[in-house]
Amino acid sequence: MYQCPHCGKAGVSGLGKWWSSAAAPAKCVRCGGFSHVRASGRNGIFVVGGLLLLLAAVVAAAAQSWLLAILGLVVVLGCYTWLWHSTELVPTSQEQSASARWFNWALLAAAIVFVASTVFIARAAPNPSIERTSSSKLRLLPAAAHVKRCA
Ligand SMILES: [Zn+2]
Repeated sequence: MYQCPHCGKAGVSGLGKWWSSAAAPAKCVRCGGFSHVRASGRNGIFVVGGLLLLLAAVVAAAAQSWLLAILGLVVVLGCYTWLWHSTELVPTSQEQSASARWFNWALLAAAIVFVASTVFIARAAPNPSIERTSSSKLRLLPAAAHVKRCA
């Protein structure tokens, strides 16, 4: 259990903390207050964990040792757990998490519109490689005739 930023008691579960975000905060079992791990903290842990995993894989591959690979994995998992353990929870409210959810949906909608418009523009525009091939074929015929006439 982790300390709740609202009541100061150990009311937030480890899994709740790990799963928490601004859009889906963890709920304290003592006071019912909402809290979450900051997005920057979450992303930082993700990046550090990924880099450590990569480092462990490179070292294990260079040494060609399964023992080193397993040892590296244990160390990375240990660091990952410790980073999550030491990351602090920030208090939030139901209203704040609702607006964060709206923001996430708006971001998703904007991404869908962007991808759809890119696909639409790509289909609407003529393919330049086909045009180039056909025009070069047309030019090739008189050029070849000229070569034949000279020879
Ligand atoms: Zn609490």
